[in-house]
Amino acid sequence: MAKEVYVDENECTGCELCVDSLPEVFEMTSDGVSRVHDPKGAPAEKIQEVIDSCPAECIHWKE
Ligand code: SF4
Repeated sequence: MAKEVYVDENECTGCELCVDSLPEVFEMTSDGVSRVHDPKGAPAEKIQEVIDSCPAECIHWKE
């Protein structure tokens, strides 16, 4: 099965970095945290770059 990205909303600080970097994949919720709205919205390499730069390290792959 292809890996799919998700945000651990309990750890997200709401810095909006991921949303600024890849709005095709991430969006802010009304709770002020990020969530994935389209896991196929960008190539895996681009998503990995955002995973690596998330200051809260709360974006992960699930298999
Ligand atoms: S980069 Fe990380 S901490 Fe910042 S909004 Fe996105 S998921 Fe949350």
